[in-house]
Amino acid sequence: MEEQPVNIPCPICSTEGQLGMVANVDEIPYFGEHTQVTVLCHACGWRQTDFIPAEGKKAGAWKLVLDDTKKLRSRVVRSSSCTVRIKELDLEVMPGTNSTGYVSNVEGVLNRFVDIINMVRRDVERDLETDTEENEELLKARATLDSLLSSIENAGDGSTFTLEFLDPHGHSMILDEDAVERELTEEELVELPVGPDPAVFSSDDVNA
Ligand SMILES: [Zn+2]
Repeated sequence: MEEQPVNIPCPICSTEGQLGMVANVDEIPYFGEHTQVTVLCHACGWRQTDFIPAEGKKAGAWKLVLDDTKKLRSRVVRSSSCTVRIKELDLEVMPGTNSTGYVSNVEGVLNRFVDIINMVRRDVERDLETDTEENEELLKARATLDSLLSSIENAGDGSTFTLEFLDPHGHSMILDEDAVERELTEEELVELPVGPDPAVFSSDDVNA
C-alpha cells in the first residue's frame, strides 16, 4: 500500500501539500471486489475511508427489519455518502464532513447510535445535577433517551424496528438474506446529503 499525494488542500484545515491517498483492492464477502480508499491529512489528522465497488452501483436504499437477534450479526458496508436511519425511533445519522466509511455488522451500527445517545444523555445528566429545581423538560428528555437505549438494547428480542441505509452513490449495503433493496426516489436524491466533498476523488479516477 503506497500513499499517493493528492494535489488539493485539506478540506478541513486547508493546509496544502499534506493530503495523501491510500487505495487498495479488497474482497468483502457478498459485497464483492471493491477498492478501499483512505484520504488522510498529515497536518490535522483528518481521514476518511470509503469503499468503491468494482461494478458500478445504482443509487440505492437498503432496509432490514430487525425482528431477530441473529440479524444483529449481518454484515454491512456503509460508505461515507450513506444516511443511516431508524424511522420508528426517529433516529438518523447523515453524512457530514467527518463522515467515514466502515465495514461492520448491524450491531456495530446500533452501537454507534448508542454512543451518540449516551453522549447526549451525559449532557442532560450534567444539566440535571447543576439545576437546583426539578426541570421537567430535562427529566422528559432523559426518559426519552432511556427509552431509546432500551429499544436498541432489545433489538430483535422484544423490540422490532427497521434499519435503513440510503446511499445516493450506491456504495453501501446490508448483507442479509431478508434485506430489501430499492432505488432511491427523485425526491430522496434531492434531499439526501452525500457527505464529504467528492472532489477529493471519484470512482472514475480510482477505477481508471
Ligand atoms: Zn487537514
